Amino acid sequence: MTDAYANKFLTIDLSNGSVSILPVCDELKNRYIGGKGFGAKLLTDGVPSGTDPLGPQNMLLFMTGPLTGTSAPAMRGCVVTKSPLTHLFLDSYFGGSFAAEIKYAGYDGIIITGRADRPVYVWIDDDRVEIRDASDLWGADILETNLRIKAELADDTIKIADIGPAGENLVPFALIGCEFNRQAGRAGAGAVMGSKNLKAVAVRGTRLVRVNDPKGFARACATALSELSQSPDIRALALAGTAASVEFASETGLLPHKNFTYSTFDKAAKLGDKGQAKHLWLGTNACMGCPIGCAKIGAVRTGKYKGMVTDIVEYESAALMGSNLGISDVRAVAHLVKLCDLLGLDSMSCGSLIGFAMEACQKGLIASPPGIDLNFGNVAAAQHLIQAIAFRKDGPGALLAKGVRAAAEEIGGSAPDLALHTKGLETPAWGPRGVSGMGLAYMTGDRGGCHQRGFTVPYELAEEWEGKKIDPLSPQGKADMVIALQNYSAGTDTLVKCDFGTFGIKADTYADLLAAATGRQKNADCFSQTGERIWNLTRQFNLAQGMDPCSDTLPRRFVQEPLPDGPAKGHKISESDMAIMRKAYYTARGWDNMGKPTTKTLRRLGIEP
Ligand code: SF4
Repeated sequence: MTDAYANKFLTIDLSNGSVSILPVCDELKNRYIGGKGFGAKLLTDGVPSGTDPLGPQNMLLFMTGPLTGTSAPAMRGCVVTKSPLTHLFLDSYFGGSFAAEIKYAGYDGIIITGRADRPVYVWIDDDRVEIRDASDLWGADILETNLRIKAELADDTIKIADIGPAGENLVPFALIGCEFNRQAGRAGAGAVMGSKNLKAVAVRGTRLVRVNDPKGFARACATALSELSQSPDIRALALAGTAASVEFASETGLLPHKNFTYSTFDKAAKLGDKGQAKHLWLGTNACMGCPIGCAKIGAVRTGKYKGMVTDIVEYESAALMGSNLGISDVRAVAHLVKLCDLLGLDSMSCGSLIGFAMEACQKGLIASPPGIDLNFGNVAAAQHLIQAIAFRKDGPGALLAKGVRAAAEEIGGSAPDLALHTKGLETPAWGPRGVSGMGLAYMTGDRGGCHQRGFTVPYELAEEWEGKKIDPLSPQGKADMVIALQNYSAGTDTLVKCDFGTFGIKADTYADLLAAATGRQKNADCFSQTGERIWNLTRQFNLAQGMDPCSDTLPRRFVQEPLPDGPAKGHKISESDMAIMRKAYYTARGWDNMGKPTTKTLRRLGIEP
């Protein structure tokens, strides 16, 4: 039956250079759909507890979904592995067209294990797979690597995922660059690639993806496009991308400023869409097949960085590398973010770490590097630290290159009180003290504290969830909302869709797309049901890898320090607030009071060991 799947994974063991094909069975498709679901199942089955994330046994999975490579709008790609930063499940998503090319080459995903004995890159040309020497590329940045591989293969249309020096140096928040301006950014998939001596994966595919019901699929695509065009949120994204969120977050008291000490920044407008439009943007850009086009093509027009080609500075990077560090010159922030992108560092984790270092220096816990004034607002200090982290240079670079949790523990004293993370993942740029449900989402996120696993902000600020009034500052009524959002997010991440697509495309439409593509009857509930199965599977994976349920918590700052500014001034998420939310969450999830899924829950979901 034609079902839009390629019905096979490509598996590569870099230790011995073997390449093989693994069929994708019906049970996997029926129960896990694709993307995150496939990755969660493969990782759970293939990565035993205690596996070193940077050891050859760890798996690096590039996954697609059943809609990847079709005309369904706003689809992306997915990397799954065990994170070297959190030592937990990691799924990270990237735009561009790399994932579609995997599908065009005839695979639903690429499974990479082992470790090459020298730097290599993998060249996949439909059925032909080569492991090629990459010794000359070692040390090159993300863009240079991309261009040199295209030149070597004499084809500038091939799609490439690669790492920079940070991944080579095993920095545990190193990213994978996809098509040089898209990234699988969070929690260190780039370091896993580096640990395998794998500099890049290059793909050329020439096959078509065939859907089961072309007419039904065309109708569902038309509906999806119509829903996107009618959504005010999508129109706003098309106009200003996520940059518009900088001013919004400052007005609502959710913006990080000075290592999350404050929640507003009086110069937020300079970092947001107006500042970026004035100094950077030249036109709109989009991932393959995306009618939204939230990205931008840009170049710095004035000042020290004049002429530097750039993209949009996404909200998370603008906030964590800008307002969080007290830097308001958006041209400088674009420069710092681009440096991270080229060296292969997650600019979110990096911004958080630099904020931590600046505060730790202010409080006398660490010294400034020689000749550097490690103070908030100092662009040169931020640039110095980014380079020092990527190359693990002696001093603060080597220390911060361990991630904020490990760095703070090593410094000792009160340093862990300044470290903003959950389970080792540096906190995203939405301060939770004014939206306590976001705090619960961070506490329980399956890859650590993450805003993309249950983004409650719009509902909490509107003070309404599914027709019921909610108080953004209260711990009551948050568990059901967070669970529903987490399940839906995990369920639709099986399609490997862009999160922004869900602002417009309805669950029924995603179900129609899936049904027409695969020939399997689906309704809107299938995403929440599958998402719940995946969420419990990743919880089981994390517990098996040694996750302590006591780590379902928030950084000390959010718990002990009331907000000094903004609309939620005076509020914190207290220990008792966390206990209330945690208990309600565990109960509603069908987990015991230690946060472990009960046998009954696992049986209901069909995932009992
Ligand atoms: S909305 Fe933006 S990030 Fe998402 S697929 Fe479209 S261009 Fe890419």
